Amino acid sequence: MIKIEENVSLSAYNTFGIDAKARYFCSINSEDQLLELLETPEYKNMPHLILGGGSNILFTKDYEGLVIKVNLKGIEIKSRTANTISVNAKSGEVWHEFVMYCVHEQWGGIENLSLIPGTMGAAPIQNIGAYGVEIKDVVECVEGIDLQTGKRKTLTNAECYFGYRESIFKHELKENFLFQVLL
Ligand SMILES: Cc1cc2nc3c(=O)[nH]c(=O)nc-3n(C[C@H](O)[C@H](O)[C@H](O)COP(=O)(O)OP(=O)(O)OC[C@H]3O[C@@H](n4cnc5c(N)ncnc54)[C@H](O)[C@@H]3O)c2cc1C
Repeated sequence: MIKIEENVSLSAYNTFGIDAKARYFCSINSEDQLLELLETPEYKNMPHLILGGGSNILFTKDYEGLVIKVNLKGIEIKSRTANTISVNAKSGEVWHEFVMYCVHEQWGGIENLSLIPGTMGAAPIQNIGAYGVEIKDVVECVEGIDLQTGKRKTLTNAECYFGYRESIFKHELKENFLFQVLL
């Protein structure tokens, strides 16, 4: 069951701590909750903003729409070989905590990307990078919900059209694709 709140302060949801208000606000903890939200008048009749950790968003005024706070959590090992490991991580996981988890497990690949603020779900949008490594170097595919159809959609690394701080999610799929899992 989802809970849509009205006139919610966003100060706890952006790293600047700006006290802008969301006309409507809903936290999403599961795919079922997201699909339920897509059927509500608040979603259908209002603009929406997907929010991760709020570290790359500067609110300059109240948001007259629906803020969807992504809270999907979970890390799961999909497969491993002698030299590789394949992990699924949900989009509400904090990026740096995921890096630390991998370092602790002695899985190499993303350690250069430690301390980048934000969540897993925002990371592919600008293809986060630091010290010569980008997330595109390790992502096999991303899975999410197409917000126009409500259908689950998977994009391979090539289909994400990653570039320097670039991807398809800044263009054709802007605000229309809610990341659930990075694989
Ligand atoms: C101090 C500082 C240092 C930084 N250093 C780096 C760096 O070294 N390298 C680098 O690449 N970036 C860096 N950044 C940028 C920032 O870390 C990234 O943009 C990060 O991915 C933002 O994550 P977030 O969860 O806070 O996103 P938010 O600010 O919440 O959202 C950013 C965008 O992602 C969208 N979004 C969020 N979650 C989802 C989701 N689940 N599905 C669909 N859309 C979603 C939002 O709608 C918005 O368009 C830095 C930022 C700061 C403030």
